Parts: sequence; structure tokens; C-alpha cells
Amino acid sequence: MSARVLIVDDVMPNVKLLAAKLTREYFDVITAYNGSQALELVAKDSPDIVLLDIMMPGMDGFEVCQKIRANPATMHIPVVMVTALSDITDRVRGLESGADDFLTKPVNDIALFARVRSLVRLKMIMDEWRLRESTSGQFGMLATGATVLSESARHARVLVLEDSPLDLDKICDTVERNGGLLTAAATSAEALDHALAEEFELVIVSLTLLNEDGLRLCSHLRSHERTRQVPILLVVDEGDMNRVAKGLELGANDYIIKPIDRNELHARLRTQIRRKRYQDRLRANYEQSLSLALTDPLTGLFNRRYVSAHLPRLLDRSADSHKPVSVFMFDIDHFKQVNDTYGHDIGDEVLREVAARARRNVRNFDLVARLGGEEFVVIMPDTDAESATAVAERLRRRIGDIAFEIAKLNHALTITVSIGVAVGGRIGETAEALIKRADESMYQAKGSGRNRVILNTRDLQGAAAPIVPTA
Ligand code: GH3
Ligand code: MG
Ligand code: MG
Repeated sequence: MSARVLIVDDVMPNVKLLAAKLTREYFDVITAYNGSQALELVAKDSPDIVLLDIMMPGMDGFEVCQKIRANPATMHIPVVMVTALSDITDRVRGLESGADDFLTKPVNDIALFARVRSLVRLKMIMDEWRLRESTSGQFGMLATGATVLSESARHARVLVLEDSPLDLDKICDTVERNGGLLTAAATSAEALDHALAEEFELVIVSLTLLNEDGLRLCSHLRSHERTRQVPILLVVDEGDMNRVAKGLELGANDYIIKPIDRNELHARLRTQIRRKRYQDRLRANYEQSLSLALTDPLTGLFNRRYVSAHLPRLLDRSADSHKPVSVFMFDIDHFKQVNDTYGHDIGDEVLREVAARARRNVRNFDLVARLGGEEFVVIMPDTDAESATAVAERLRRRIGDIAFEIAKLNHALTITVSIGVAVGGRIGETAEALIKRADESMYQAKGSGRNRVILNTRDLQGAAAPIVPTA
């Protein structure tokens, strides 16, 4: 899928030239010749990136950029200012108004393409996270309403690899001016050690090191799970755009050209930190919504929804690997009496303790879920009938034989469960059908005196095989 680029410039030949270059690189190009037309297209055609001229009659590029940033519907679209202005104060002003980068005309093609690709990639990741957030929002969960700009950039933890004392000094000043904490590494190896052992929000990598190539560190950072997401800011010499392009392809997020201007560094640093914090917030929020949607708040066990999604996949895998999956269902005996005699709160305590005993009784990769009420299921991959029945029997005893000490009650309670076991992996049997067989056996256990385990041996045609009571 090709990314859509909006080019905004009041000079027709500039637009044509840039459009031709980008079309050749398979971008989908749209064009605007003034600020208000640009804003219209941004709202209507949702481009993946905007290349924005600054000097235009009427609304200038700074203002256009601010307006894009001020609108919640468009604030996430990357903006690169492309301009003849090369004064450092203009560059900083561009970044302050929310631009992601600032390219000077005539534009170096390699830098342009690399930049556009890396910003589009970033936008797609952010779009995905925002989509997930809005999905969780639909379920009434935890939409944060946070935006990139609402994030603070203060107290950032930054790692730097730079061997020039002058530049290191500037970086140090700028980080500390923001209340941040800087760790300086002398070599790539040392930097990687720090990055793997500690939490950083930004890594600044110099590409002008005397003894090694900073790009190698970028590549290492991207190859480790732990550092894959950390933003990388490159520090480069003017005229080294080929390596900048390579760095951006490797996954670096931004670059700054020497001599470092403190204000520019400050602006770039702030953008990276805010984005990182925003992305982290979306991710944490998503994970929390996910855990709310798939776990039972009373016991912390997985819920029915999770079982419905997970068990079919386990059964598919078991069909491929020819290893059986076993399940057992259990239900607390005469639980209604516990509620009626001691109250609902004590009932809840009992449910929690039953859940805890069940979890302790199984292996790590077995799954314990509360299906609802006082009904639970245990799912055991790679487990045959004999082992499954043994585990079920052990759990039955660990619940029935050891009385429940309940904090708010001055005597212990005896609780028992009835368990039905079924072995999956039969051709054509669905997850639902498997659970249903376990359920049938559980009801047989109830019917034949409770506090016992029964293995379901019914075949698919429905002929009842002899029942083997184990208690
Ligand atoms: P049986 O041995 O046949 O399973 O009898 P039982 O009393 O356990 O079964 P029944 O299905 O009649 O009653 C289940 C009770 O579980 C009724 C309901 O109030 C209670 N219950 C369901 N969910 C909860 C819960 O979250 N907390 C508490 N405290 N009680 C619950
Ligand atoms: Mg019950
Ligand atoms: Mg019940």
C-alpha cells in the first residue's frame, strides 16, 4: 500500500518537481497551492504526511502547521517543512509550531525519501495504537483522551553515545535544562549494555565517532526486544545525508545536523520524548483494557470470553501436533448454602480461595478460567486422560480435604467440588462440544453424590461408555 503525500507550495514548478520525484518512488501525491487549500485537503483526504512550504502569500507554513496540530482529527499527521529558509531560528520556529522536520531547498532526494518513509512508518504504528484505543473506548473502557501534545517532556531519561566533548556538553546542557537525566557511554558496547539494563526514553547516537560507526548501535538497539521501541536521535555532520538515510531505514527516528543548535536539539528532544510517552500510554492502556476484557475481576482468572477465543486455537494446534488437550470443569457443591448461611461476601472469599487452589494445582501453561458463578474450567495442553484425571483428583482433594480458613469467619469451612473431565483432539469436535462433554460428566458427578471426578468417555456418536468414578 502506498503512502499519500500532500505537497503544499505556492510555486507551481516546485510542486511539480517534488510531485514527480515522489510519484517515481511510488508515493500517492496530492497537491495544494496555498494554506487554506492545504487545510481542506488535510481534513478531506487524510494524507500520511504533509510536505509544507513556509513562505506563501496569505497563511504561511507556520500557521498551517499550527492549525494541523490544533485539530484533534489531524494532529497526528507528520509535517515536514520544505523551504528556502535555512536560518536556525526559522528551523526552531518550524519545530516549535509542530513540524517533524525541516528540509532546506534544494532538497536532497535521499534525505527526503528516507524521512518521508520513516515518518509514514511511525504514523502507521501510531494509527494502529489509536485504533485499538478507540476499540477499547467502544467497550466503555479507559479511553485516555491523551494526545501527543498533552504529554510532558520533562525529566526524560536519555542515553548518549558521542565522543566529541563539545557536542556532549551541549547535549548534556539541553537534557538537564529539561530536568532530564543523562547517561553518557564511551563506546557502542557500553551504550548497548546500559540500554539493555536500564529504561531510557531516548538514545542519542553520534554518527561522527572517531573509532566506530554509530549505525551499528542503531542496528543493535533495533534487534533487541527490550530496546526495539526506544526512540533514536542521530547526530550527524552536514553532507552525510547518505548515512542519515541509512540510519532512518534502520529505524532511527530523527536526526540533528552539527553544529548542534541547543534550541533545535531541545525541540527535537521534546518531540521524541512526548511521542514515546504517548505511545507508551496507549500501549499500557490497551493492555489494561485487554486484561479487563478477558479476566474475571473477582478471582483474577481468565473469563469465558478468553476461553472461547483460546481453546479453539489450542485444539487446532493439538490436531497438528497429535498431542491431546484435556479439560475439566468443576463446580462448587451446595454453594448456595454457603451464601445463604454466611452471606455473599463470605461466598466471594470462598470463590477466591477455590480459584487460588486451582491455580496452584496446575502447571504454568495450563489455563484456569471462571466461566461464571461457581463454575470453573481448567485447560491442559499435551495432557492425556490419565494425567488429566489425576490432576482433577488432586485438586478435588486439595479443596475438599483442607478446610477453608476465611478471615471474617471464626471457624473453617469445608468446601467440596464435583469435576467432569474430557479429552479433546477428536476429529471434528469443536471447543464448545468438548466443554459440553466435560459439563455432562460434571453433572453426573453431582448426580452420583458430589465431591468426585468423572471422566467423559462418550464417543462422538453419543453412545455412552461406562463411567469410571474415581472417588
Ligand atoms: P450444586 O452442588 O448442585 O452445584 O449446588 P449449588 O448450590 O452450588 O448450585 P446452584 O447453581 O443452585 O447455586 C449456585 C449459587 O452460586 C447461586 C448463586 O447465588 C451463587 N453465586 C453465583 N455467582 C456468585 C458470586 O460471584 N459470588 C457469590 N458469593 N455467589 C455466587
Ligand atoms: Mg454448585
Ligand atoms: Mg452452579
